[in-house]
Formats: sequence, C-alpha cells, structure tokens
Amino acid sequence: MNALSSTTPDLSHLRADFPILSETIRGKPFVFLDSAASAQKPAVVIDAMTHTMRHQYANVHRGLHWMSERTSDAYEGVRDKVAALLNAASREEIVFTGSSTGAINLVAYSYGALLRPDQAVLISEMEHHANIVPWQMLRDRRGIELRVAPVDERGELDLGAMEALLADGRVGLVSITHMSNVLGTVTPAARIAELAHAAGALLLLDGSQAAVHRPVDVKAIGADFYVFTGHKLYGPTGIGVLWARHALLEAMPPFMGGGDMIGSVSFERSTWAEVPHKFEAGTPPIVEVIGLGAAIDYVQAIGMGTIQAHEAGLTEHALARLGAVEGLRVIGEARTRGGVISFTVDGAHAHDIATLLDRNGIAVRAGTHCAEPLMRRFGITSTARASFGIYTTTQEIDVLADTLDRIRSFLV
Ligand SMILES: *Cc1c(COP(=O)(O)O)cnc(C)c1O
Repeated sequence: MNALSSTTPDLSHLRADFPILSETIRGKPFVFLDSAASAQKPAVVIDAMTHTMRHQYANVHRGLHWMSERTSDAYEGVRDKVAALLNAASREEIVFTGSSTGAINLVAYSYGALLRPDQAVLISEMEHHANIVPWQMLRDRRGIELRVAPVDERGELDLGAMEALLADGRVGLVSITHMSNVLGTVTPAARIAELAHAAGALLLLDGSQAAVHRPVDVKAIGADFYVFTGHKLYGPTGIGVLWARHALLEAMPPFMGGGDMIGSVSFERSTWAEVPHKFEAGTPPIVEVIGLGAAIDYVQAIGMGTIQAHEAGLTEHALARLGAVEGLRVIGEARTRGGVISFTVDGAHAHDIATLLDRNGIAVRAGTHCAEPLMRRFGITSTARASFGIYTTTQEIDVLADTLDRIRSFLV
C-alpha cells in the first residue's frame, strides 16, 4: 500500500545528515515519530555549535577585540537568515528570545502594557498552554478580558464564531496558532489577519509548528507578530524568535532590563537601546543562535516548499494506514493540515499505546500535548501523537501501523 503521490519528494537521503537516526533502541531501528515535541539535529547544526565554541567564541556586541567581532558578526548574521525565512521587512524586526514561550510572554508583557484594561485578547480552543497562560497572567495583572474562539468537530477554527467575538471592537489582539501541535490543523492565517484588522485588532501567530513544516511569509499573511522556537526547526534548544512589525517594537516597552538593552544608565534613569536590542537584555544564547542559523541554512537548502510536499505525502499515507487500524480514531480532520496526527485506540490508554510502541523502538508522544482545554473540547483525556519531520519515511509509518495492528490484541 502506498498512498504517496508521484509528486512527493523523497528526502530519505537526508537521514544520513542526522547522526542520532542510526541509533538502535532495544536492538530495533529507532523510529522517531515525535518531531512535534522536538526535532533531531543534523550534523551541520551540531558542528556549527562546536566549531563556535572551539574556534570562534567570545561575548557579543561589547568587545572591540577580534574574537568578539567575529562572534558578533556570526550572531547578527543569523538575524538576516531569520528575516529571510519569514520574509520580514527588515532584520531589526527579529528579536531573539529563549523559545516560543519566551516570545509569547514578551508580547504578553510588552504589548500587553499598551492594551487598555477594557480591551480583550482573543485566543482559540486549540492553543498550546504557551499561548494560553501568558494571557491569563496578563488578564490577572491588567484586568483585560480573555476570549476563546471555538474549534469545530473537524478541528478547524470556527471563523464565524471568531468574527462574532471580534464584533464589539474591543479585542486588541488575536493570538492564534498557525498550526495545531495536536490536530495538525493549519489555520487560515491571512483570513484571520483580515478579520482581526477589520475589527481593529492585531494578530499574533504561534508558528512553533507551522514554521517547521511550510513556507511562512509574514508580509503576505499580514500578521503583526510571529513566533517560533529553534529546537523544533532542527536547531538547538534555548533559542526562540519573535518577529514583530518595526513600529510595534518601537512602541512597546522593554520586557526584561539589564545589560545590552540600554542606551545609557544612571541611577536616576536609563534609556533603551535601539530595536531589536531593547528586547535582548543580558548575554544572549550566542551558540544557540549560531546553531539556529545553521538549521535555517539547512532547511532553506532543501526548500520549505519541498519539505511541505514531502510531509503532505507522509501525512496522506499515514492517515490511510492508521485509518485502517481497527478501533483507532484520528482526532481532527482539518482540510488543511500538517504532519501531526493524534489518535486514540478504543479501550486503550494513550500511555499504554506509547509504552508498547516504545518496546518496538517507536517513539510517539502520549498525553495532553500541553493543550488540556483542547482535550476537553473533544471529550478525551489524552491522545497518542505521531509527528513527522524531514527525515521521516513511509516505511516508518508502515512500521507504526503494522505494530499498532499487532499490539491492539494486548490492549483490548
Ligand atoms: C512547542 C510549542 C510551543 C512552545 O514551544 P517552546 O519551545 O516549548 O517554547 C508553543 N506552541 C506550539 C503550537 C508548540 O507546538
């Protein structure tokens, strides 16, 4: 059985770029289907980071010496790579944070400070906790209202309901995932931008998943803020990105105070550095930024469009194969989706499924996937989730489906 269409690019040759994929688990080949939680790293990323620490490392921005200047160049060069990846208007619109979580908290704090207490923030039922909790904290701090747009039975955003929630013009910011880490749903970002702007609201997109699986053009979308996290884009942990329109970054107060984010400091008052440095207090994750740059070079060389087509083929194949497993229910059937598939198996707990798959060398995630409200929406407590990356093969999906078929008899 092979649902792959002839236009699906075969990227299996890339597997050799990822040293960890040749590991064996309990004597079995390592079948890694948990990229949505964190992706594996190609050797070019690992090498860029070790090369930096071995040969070209000093603190950035402060030193006038050779080593600091070279490191600063490498660090600042990544800002250009990120700007190109997202089609940002300028490199100054790119702020390095610690993660997507760090980036959303920055916006909640700094843009949140510009919202009036009688305004609201609109999120959706399918948000990751990272795009829920910072807004609850803002609500508790500033008294703003938190509104939640519903998700329909297919796992798509209910745009009609969203429009109704925007109708009174009190929503200052819409903060929505660009792709669900549970359902795989890709949200209609440009349409949401239109709806938000028509109601006088700005739009933040949580691109933690989308930026990994498809080309992103923040200008074409018409977004105001976009965030993603390095470790899901084949880069290291400890590095995330906030893109925001320049005028917004100018207007927003800083998030954290400290070194590197100031113009001048006296005990009476301090002035802020230019954007984006105003938002990068303290020594940044230098090695991690350089690692992210290598990861971006790597995916850009393959092409985000090619990656998207590869994963679309895998997803189609996986939906067909998993759909044929007795008692298995895929949660979410959005018409536009990426390579993340959550499922339940009748009579079996997701943790038991994951444990039995693990005995066979297959890594999937089980639980609430940092999206407890979404679990409640679908009347379940947890799911098992298989997620794909550029190195995932149809053979691995077949191993998953065959193994699920086999272990079902132990589970029910
Ligand atoms: C992973 C993820 C996050 C959080 O990313 P961190 O790297 O943990 O900050 C936020 N939103 C979505 C949709 C995610 O998948």
